[in-house]
Amino acid sequence: MRKILIAATVCAAMPAHAADIAIIHAGKLLAVPGAPARDAQTIVVRDGKIASISAGYLDAAAIGAGDGDPVRIYDLKNSFVLPGLIDSHVHITNENNPQQRLQAVEMSDADDAIAAAGFAKKTLMAGFTTVRDVGAGSGDAVFALRDGIAKGDVAGPRIFASGATVSVTGGHGDGTQGYRDDIAELFHSAAVCDGPDACRRAVREQVRRGADHIKLTATGGVLSNTAAGLEQQFFDDELAAIVDAGHKMGRKVTAHAHGVGGINAALRAGVDSIEHGTYLDDESIKLFRKGGAYLVPTLLAGATVVDMAKDPNSHLLPPQREKALKVGPKMHDMAVQAKKGGVKIAFGTDTGVSKHGENAREFALMVAAGFTPMEAIKAATVNAADHLGKSDMIGTISPGKAADIIAVDEDPLADINALLDVDFVMKDGIAYKTPD
Ligand SMILES: [Zn+2]
Repeated sequence: MRKILIAATVCAAMPAHAADIAIIHAGKLLAVPGAPARDAQTIVVRDGKIASISAGYLDAAAIGAGDGDPVRIYDLKNSFVLPGLIDSHVHITNENNPQQRLQAVEMSDADDAIAAAGFAKKTLMAGFTTVRDVGAGSGDAVFALRDGIAKGDVAGPRIFASGATVSVTGGHGDGTQGYRDDIAELFHSAAVCDGPDACRRAVREQVRRGADHIKLTATGGVLSNTAAGLEQQFFDDELAAIVDAGHKMGRKVTAHAHGVGGINAALRAGVDSIEHGTYLDDESIKLFRKGGAYLVPTLLAGATVVDMAKDPNSHLLPPQREKALKVGPKMHDMAVQAKKGGVKIAFGTDTGVSKHGENAREFALMVAAGFTPMEAIKAATVNAADHLGKSDMIGTISPGKAADIIAVDEDPLADINALLDVDFVMKDGIAYKTPD
């Protein structure tokens, strides 16, 4: 009783809350990708959220800021302003490099988390205000990073994380191939499973650890050190068990899949999205459209592994090199086919294979595959937000949503590579980068 009375007294004595206000004067504003950009707009941000968008350039008095309210004004009259970008497929805790197999046994989770904080900052500064991490090994660095960023302790994009990848023993996602048994045991993942019961448990274990969604590897992959091909690895009953277990815990389930058998089996099992989709066919396109699943094409990963495979000095091992040269060139055709077939596309890069902070290179590859610049931007904003189930929070600059706002010098609708040079980054109303 006494405690309650004290609390009430303190509340009554506190001054009225002063709003934190930011005013952005946008020379050109693409508030909702897919709808036209508008000239000379004012965005008002209040306490980290978009409050209003108005025509013309309004000052603090015109927007009704109170006397005690701190107001920041950002002059982006010479810039093109758009929503913060969303990358639906990253590996924020690592970056492909020649020492990677050694680092797996040298670096602790704490080392990984510190490295990941650096990668996260590069990602944010490149204009990506939200990322979906789809596989971070068996450690907990990605969860610590996600939570540290959310609390404001570390500068980085908003992260949605899957934790470890649900994979078959020896499959793509079981990162222990090629290590001696006692070393492999050190970083064995609880997400590696065989048989429906074990796979249900693997999913629940990732949910227990804090996973926002579930990632499974339906087929072989390019960068696993095994000559196990690129086709289906889970049995159909295992796929169904994973998808059901994820959905029962309120988690979306996404499947890494290259080979067509694995793509179609995963779609039939009811996954919410397919990562890569390299060898998709007409049947896959029917299944995508029927179930409403998204495709995350990751063209940048294809381009990156081909470059690595062609470089005689690169660190790729023979099975990786062989798979890279097969998969890379096929990914462009896949994107052309998916686009023509009317498959829903969410932008994703597989960054971690490529370098963090270079995520926007995916845009030009999408445009080369037949997407208009507007469609490519929509894939990285409106569609990616829908794919995450977060359209109420991110994806457009609209009243009530998080103030995730970026700006570039040139018009990306005229030249998509304008997005490679982001000059202004705001996330949740905090400006992390402003033009010089
Ligand atoms: Zn990946």
